[in-house]
Amino acid sequence: MIVILKQNPNRDQLESLVNWLQEKGITIHSSVGEAHTILGLVGDTSKLDIDLISALDIVEDVKRVQEPYKNANRKFHPEDTVIQVGNTQIGGGTLTIMAGPCSVESEEQVVAIAKAVKASGATMLRGGAFKPRTSPYSFQGLGATGLEYLKIARQETGLPIVTELMDLSQLPLFKDVDVIQIGARNMQNFDLLKAVGHQDKPVMIKRGMSATYEEWLMSAEYVMAGGNENVILCERGIRTFESYTRNTLDLAAIPVMKKLTHLPIIIDPSHATGKNWLVEPLAMGAVATGCDGLQIEVHNDPAHALCDGPQSLKPEQFDPLSKKLLKLHETMKGLEG
Ligand code: PEP
Ligand code: MN
Repeated sequence: MIVILKQNPNRDQLESLVNWLQEKGITIHSSVGEAHTILGLVGDTSKLDIDLISALDIVEDVKRVQEPYKNANRKFHPEDTVIQVGNTQIGGGTLTIMAGPCSVESEEQVVAIAKAVKASGATMLRGGAFKPRTSPYSFQGLGATGLEYLKIARQETGLPIVTELMDLSQLPLFKDVDVIQIGARNMQNFDLLKAVGHQDKPVMIKRGMSATYEEWLMSAEYVMAGGNENVILCERGIRTFESYTRNTLDLAAIPVMKKLTHLPIIIDPSHATGKNWLVEPLAMGAVATGCDGLQIEVHNDPAHALCDGPQSLKPEQFDPLSKKLLKLHETMKGLEG
């Protein structure tokens, strides 16, 4: 971090800034110019509040030369993180296919879909029991009962389950799920992030609708700062001016995240587009771009789905897609040589 001081800074104020930084373990290299003095701060500056320093009377400007996230930063952890979930791995050159309904609607529904997606090559079962809905009058999910149905589907198929945690109070019910999903709407629910950081289940953080890459990585940092290193990122489309699709899928997030972080990245083409016919081309694009996996909504009867029917694939549509995705992933690996 670089702190540019105003001309002729007050000596007492400068001394107290220097002392304060040194107390925090920061080493200071100052360079005195004709007009300005520049302080080069060396050490762990990730915990310094840039706004607080900028607001000081003697400070002209502050610039970060290092990212504010440390645990998630590839610079400090060059190897890809590989997360073991049940008998499957996320990251490390594998392609994880999470598939299942938007919402768990009944035991029969989720078990039937789980069996179908497993037969097509899915490695995890997705399904919401607690649902964040825009309208309070829409189906809100089966709650704890939905979690029980997911566990039955896991027992029947062996597929690990990924499901959304919406509120701190629900955490005790999630002891037996395999991956805790933090939804886009909760990406910056910092208390929730802290709580999942203090337990050891893998956490998948969906990108907030208007979150920058840095904000998204800072959410991962919240979880990791609590001691839980098993974090997965999921890009699910962001809000733009385009209204034809539900959201706009940001495929650049894949190579950017590969550069900035060692955490695996999953793409959700279902919420990104809102349209079932767009799921295949974008899922293929995501695999070609190097994602570690996909999360795809599959429903046995999309026309009557209680949530997100228009973006859901039928099992018979998911089957050829899943096989194509696995084939493309193999081809891509071959190209890497
Ligand atoms: C979901 O996956 O069910 C969901 C609600 O997704 P998002 O948080 O990305 O909107
Ligand atoms: Mn959905």
